[in-house]
Amino acid sequence: MNRKTTVIILSFLFLLGTAGGSNRHPAERWWKGNTHTHSLWSDGDAAPELVADWYRSHGYHFLALTDHDILSEGEKWCPISDSPGSELGPGRVVDLRERFGEGWIVERATDGGREMRLKTLAELRERFEAPGEFLFIQGEEISDSFGSKPLHFNALNLVAHIPTQGGDSVQETLRRNVAAVVEQADRLNRPIVVHINHPNWIWAITPEELAAERGTHLFELYNGSTGCNNLGDETHPSMEGVWDIALTLRLAELGLGLMYGLAVDDTHNYFSFGPDYSNPGRGWIVVRARRLTLEAVLDAVRTGDFYSSTGVDLKDFRHNRTRYVVEIDEEADVIYTTQFIGTRLVDGRPGEVGEVLHETAENPATYRFRGDELYVRARVISSRMQSNYAAGEEAPEYAWLQPVIPGRRRR
Ligand SMILES: [Zn+2]
Ligand SMILES: [Zn+2]
Repeated sequence: MNRKTTVIILSFLFLLGTAGGSNRHPAERWWKGNTHTHSLWSDGDAAPELVADWYRSHGYHFLALTDHDILSEGEKWCPISDSPGSELGPGRVVDLRERFGEGWIVERATDGGREMRLKTLAELRERFEAPGEFLFIQGEEISDSFGSKPLHFNALNLVAHIPTQGGDSVQETLRRNVAAVVEQADRLNRPIVVHINHPNWIWAITPEELAAERGTHLFELYNGSTGCNNLGDETHPSMEGVWDIALTLRLAELGLGLMYGLAVDDTHNYFSFGPDYSNPGRGWIVVRARRLTLEAVLDAVRTGDFYSSTGVDLKDFRHNRTRYVVEIDEEADVIYTTQFIGTRLVDGRPGEVGEVLHETAENPATYRFRGDELYVRARVISSRMQSNYAAGEEAPEYAWLQPVIPGRRRR
């Protein structure tokens, strides 16, 4: 066999190898998404195609449209009006037609006015989805309350609308709504996940109430919309503080597992920007998966194979029996500090809740387990401040990593 033939055969075998590899076992990679967004289907101020277009054109790979108590299906007509309170003026319809094409918009006359039909998720999928590029997750924000406390839940990948379930306490209302989502998932044998939304909005859910929820282990650690009190106040813990209290209670007292925290936008405003508005692009999750499919994304969320971010990108995170390692995807001129946070057992009882166990400026950042931690989580703090945030929420850019139990694999 001459050299040329050898090269050709080796190249052929190599191509076979890569083709087979990429088809059957593509490498794990990161996918960015937002699981909380509103549109004209409820109280968002933009048509759903504009919402989809914003996320797709800003580097997101998946998006859940989660309007209040409604799925984006069937016929819904939105009045076209310049009157105060109307979200769809004639100018915005002109803009939509220009952006998406003459035939895209469907209008009709009504008694004394006009209205536009909202695009369904099926129509949006056809226009925006592309394999390996962009994926919609069908969503609904189940928007219940107990007294003056809003108790909201995002069901992701559900099939049928879930009405609010009510309850005679915060705890009972949480339990019943989460159970309704779990019931649909079990009945349809389908991956449907549910996260508890904005616990600190109107201080609706205490850390103890969050901790005691058994039906889901997912909650919003960071919600970018106005009034969500992510940073807490003088008398209430921040959402990170809530997380540490809840984790400690679950693991030390309640016999429950870890809770994972998501960062979301909860976008309502696409035309006015600033701290007084609920704008896109404030908080997101990045999941690790081989493929951009509903199953893979939801599985990564369920098992905690994701991180939450308001600006910091990661290259990798991993843990084994002895250590937790975080690798930052650094940007020039930015300094990063990584903190490993957890609660240790001291004489068999929880010590300081949410103690900073180790802080380092190294990249990768490594924490060696001591063996007395109930859990360990990590956060990366950027030297750059977040530029897009709600009033009262000014903070550095972060990446938040999910907690692990030393010596144990992820759930
Ligand atoms: Zn809400
Ligand atoms: Zn919302």
